[in-house]
Amino acid sequence: MIVFDLACDCGYTFEGWFQDRQDFDKQQTAAFLVCPVCDGREVRKILSPIRAQSFRNTGDESSHMKAAESKQSTRVADSLETLQEFVEKNFEDVGTELATESLKIHYGVSKPRNIRGVTTELEEKKLQEEGINLLKVPMPVKCKNAN
Ligand SMILES: [Zn+2]
Repeated sequence: MIVFDLACDCGYTFEGWFQDRQDFDKQQTAAFLVCPVCDGREVRKILSPIRAQSFRNTGDESSHMKAAESKQSTRVADSLETLQEFVEKNFEDVGTELATESLKIHYGVSKPRNIRGVTTELEEKKLQEEGINLLKVPMPVKCKNAN
């Protein structure tokens, strides 16, 4: 739900609740918006910050919520970066040999170590059948222009 501040030609202002912006546009176009004081249909939206409706109807709260949300997404990005760094530093890059090496380590042919690389879907399935679960980390695509 969103709330718009509405104003009538008579000077009365009130709040209108709508499902979304399209809902408001629809109702305004169809002249469904009627002033509760004078029954006038010249109701228009006052330019004001649109509040996304949460549980309580206070502007303050919604701005707090937004701040909290953006903080949270920064945190997620941070921890993902840390994870990527960790993997880069501590895992040997075996490239396309990941599946083969994983199996070798699994069966004690190769020395146990942390490895990273790429696998095909088929290889991944095979590994899963062998009881080897890969951790997938979305790695950043390095931009050629950076640095
Ligand atoms: Zn009015």
